[in-house]
Amino acid sequence: MVSSWHADVVVIGAGIIGASVAWHLAKKKVDVLVLEKSDPCSGTSGACDGMVFLQSKKPGVHLALAMAGRNRFDTLEQELDADIALQCSGGIMAITSEAELTAVNWFVQEQNQAGLGVSLLDIRQARELAPCLSPNLPGATFCSLDARVNPIYLTLAFLEAAERCGTRVLSRTPVMGIGLKTDGIFVLDTPQKTIETRTIVNAAGVHAPKIGKMVGLDIPITPRRGQILVTGPMAPVLDQCLISAAYVAAKYDPAIAESGHMGISMEQTEAGNFLLGSTREFVGFDRSTTLTAVKHILAETTAIIPALQDASLMRTFAGLRPYTPDGLPILGRVPSLPGFIMAAGHEGDGIALSPVTGQLIAELITDGTTCINLTPFCLERFSNGAVS
Ligand SMILES: Cc1cc2nc3c(=O)[nH]c(=O)nc-3n(C[C@H](O)[C@H](O)[C@H](O)COP(=O)(O)OP(=O)(O)OC[C@H]3O[C@@H](n4cnc5c(N)ncnc54)[C@H](O)[C@@H]3O)c2cc1C
Repeated sequence: MVSSWHADVVVIGAGIIGASVAWHLAKKKVDVLVLEKSDPCSGTSGACDGMVFLQSKKPGVHLALAMAGRNRFDTLEQELDADIALQCSGGIMAITSEAELTAVNWFVQEQNQAGLGVSLLDIRQARELAPCLSPNLPGATFCSLDARVNPIYLTLAFLEAAERCGTRVLSRTPVMGIGLKTDGIFVLDTPQKTIETRTIVNAAGVHAPKIGKMVGLDIPITPRRGQILVTGPMAPVLDQCLISAAYVAAKYDPAIAESGHMGISMEQTEAGNFLLGSTREFVGFDRSTTLTAVKHILAETTAIIPALQDASLMRTFAGLRPYTPDGLPILGRVPSLPGFIMAAGHEGDGIALSPVTGQLIAELITDGTTCINLTPFCLERFSNGAVS
């Protein structure tokens, strides 16, 4: 028999965003119920890298949001009382051609003007920081604020901290439909329970559009596949997280990604394994990996760190980034449906932006105002938000 429950706020999705929202609300003594269709962290947050990379963000609202988010990481382990494998050893952007050097020079100037300290280094200076870099590269940039975490540890830490504050988390509980009563109460249908609430947070990642359709909203989030290779453990050679300049270009320009010049990202874990990534492909919900991608990633990563030629390849996996047309997440209330709040569409930034997203959504729900203006992130920026 389907039983009926009530919660002040229902969060749909137990990925890193839903988990962070739940914890930030629970800390403020809000009664939260998290509904997850499979298991916590079984979506994109369990199939990604863990870079908290500021250098890859566009100066403007995107970088400002990321910088606010970065500040939160300094105290997160203490606040959550959990090991999230935070490493604050900075980040490198490798420049692989003279043509990139000009574009990067401009990008770095913009970032410094925005208050992010980024240095443009020649290859001799870059190799003083990371001797494993190929001497054939034209140069690199460095930002000491770039960091990394273990995204699975962080997601579970958010959820466990939320549960300690009273949040209920229901796994294997897909939301199948949402009704709205005349008194403004939503009724969520799941196989086991009917749940009533005045406030829904849509944190369903690449599935956020399906949740939107249940309440008549058109949400422009598309899955964008990223494939990652995992090497066997190697002696420590890379402290920093690393991306190539082409990776940043492909992030913002789908045409560059589709042309095959999509760049790479890499990080060496505490255990010595490298995570080498990653593609940016629009292939629907297909999470398989391909030989073409493996060859591409190996060719580009070994050109940047030649020692990787000796690495053994252990396995590959793929995750789906929740892509939005302008690269910004969708955050905040939907005016046509005031009890319905968006927290999705973080593309390749959801790990880095998870603490600040949770904080902002909790402020919005409990205080009605946020410390960062959410207007640039509203759903209505794409249209009026209604299904056509
Ligand atoms: C290859 C790759 C590398 C990346 N690297 C980085 C990085 O280095 N740094 C960074 O910041 N970001 C990175 N990202 C991006 C980051 O992983 C995502 O932005 C983030 O994980 C999105 O989190 P989410 O909580 O929105 O989505 P998800 O983790 O997918 O969570 C959504 C959850 O909602 C659940 N759900 C869906 N529908 C329903 C329903 N009907 N009912 C109940 N539950 C439902 C799903 O099962 C899922 O668990 C990367 C992504 C990829 C793919």
